[in-house]
Amino acid sequence: MAPELRAREALRHVWGYDDFRGRQADVVETVASGRDALVLMPTGGGKSLCYQVPALMRRGTAVVVSPLISLMQDQVATLLQLGVRAAYLSSSLEAHEARAIESQLLDGRLDLIYMAPERLVTPRALDLLARVDISLFAIDEAHCVSQWGHDFRADYLGLSVLAEQFPQVPRLALTATADLRTRADIVRLLKLEAAEVFISSFDRPNLFYRMLPRLNALEQLTDFIKREHAGDAGIVYCLSRAKTEKVAEALRARGFPALAYHAGLPAAEREANQTRFLREEGVIVVATIAFGMGIDKSNVRFVAHLDLPKSVEAYYQETGRAGRDGLPSTVCLFYGLQDVIKHQQMLSQSEGSEEHKRHERRRIDAMLQLCETTDCRRQLLLRYFDEHMAQPCGYCDTCAEPVATWDATEPARLALSAVYRTGQRYGVEYVVEVLTGKRSERVGDNRHDQLALFGQGSDTSLKTWRSIFRQLLAKGLLLVDPDGYGTLRLSPDCRALLKGEVALTLRRDRDTLTAQRSARGG
Ligand code: ADP
Ligand code: ZN
Repeated sequence: MAPELRAREALRHVWGYDDFRGRQADVVETVASGRDALVLMPTGGGKSLCYQVPALMRRGTAVVVSPLISLMQDQVATLLQLGVRAAYLSSSLEAHEARAIESQLLDGRLDLIYMAPERLVTPRALDLLARVDISLFAIDEAHCVSQWGHDFRADYLGLSVLAEQFPQVPRLALTATADLRTRADIVRLLKLEAAEVFISSFDRPNLFYRMLPRLNALEQLTDFIKREHAGDAGIVYCLSRAKTEKVAEALRARGFPALAYHAGLPAAEREANQTRFLREEGVIVVATIAFGMGIDKSNVRFVAHLDLPKSVEAYYQETGRAGRDGLPSTVCLFYGLQDVIKHQQMLSQSEGSEEHKRHERRRIDAMLQLCETTDCRRQLLLRYFDEHMAQPCGYCDTCAEPVATWDATEPARLALSAVYRTGQRYGVEYVVEVLTGKRSERVGDNRHDQLALFGQGSDTSLKTWRSIFRQLLAKGLLLVDPDGYGTLRLSPDCRALLKGEVALTLRRDRDTLTAQRSARGG
């Protein structure tokens, strides 16, 4: 039988799927015919089948390198249910269990064996593998080899040994991290110069991207659900466990079937909530980011974030859990001044090398840029993954309703001066008191009511001042001290603005859901 047909046979018989998705068929063909491949595919794109199908088509056992024991266990359990002979070797096994699996491996009784990288690179494991007929090596989460990323694992560097010791065995590296630098590292460090590269678009065309300044998160969230997703299943992400419980309760009080989910809940409750979410229609889970790993529900209609994700990658992954079935879905992020302060603070407190800090700053800056942009969100998001989209998408909030901007040069200069004149020793709330001429006790004690700029910003609303400060912080014109009090400080970058050499345009915040989802999704 021709290889394509055999591949499809396996897909139908073993998995019960009608057809390959995206570039799966090409990858399977490449690996099945013994060539190396590098697969860049977003999370949920179907990377596993890219090596599982060739594993069944080729003689011998496929060796899958995977960094997370829980993911290995999940995959093996699924494969066993499908009747595929799979096992994993990890430090979580008892010695006798490991020995039993090793002898299955030596007897050629396994189609796939999953191994953690630190185990695979030991002389003992390499000796073992040298005595086994190996069909292919699959290196999952291959970006872990790159120090450029946030998931660097030193053990991945040792995997270059596979190219040396098993030159005749095809190797397949897979990752959902697609930036050019990571890609180059994977090719170089895993010796994949000859690999065919398969890049899937990261675009999720059925997701409508929406980001709103947070005023009253709960009101905004319920308004959003009522107006756009009444009765739909959704995930609401919060940063803290306590907040997930509070928000879930508040949603229930307003008549929504909402459940909390976080790692601190008793296992039984967590499992029960997850099961309800999967089985029942229209359940909302309010969760920390612990929720979602391995959750496979295709008709999640919305994902909302009540706190800012820590990076664009994280945002992409979390929002990616909406609309897996391809039907129109909305992802909605509420972000505020506090998020920006918190992130700036974390940055200034972070330990590690200068290089590491610069890197972290870039990651957070990119996320803030995505929030504050006045351009198409999807274009910016894809550019982050080094993917070029020629036209604005027409299916995000800034496309649906272009953002108004205003010349904020004067108020911004006033804000910066106020930070400076009060000694760079206070947070936003205090500086705004001075600007708006509030004679609070603190202001009086510090005699800041004597400053020339005291009250000079009184015709600008509190809301607008907070929006100005948020954007100044997001743009890096103001910085936050590591002291934990949100103390503001001028950044060297703000000098040109202070001196009147450049102008500053800011977005005019829109806080209601005026932008309607337009034609694309229906
Ligand atoms: P990734 O590893 O890229 O995040 P997975 O391999 O876990 O993605 O696949 C995501 C989901 O898509 C799984 O539930 C998988 O069964 C499903 N899937 C993958 N390929 C296909 C296909 N060709 N047809 C139907 N479902 C598929
Ligand atoms: Zn757009």
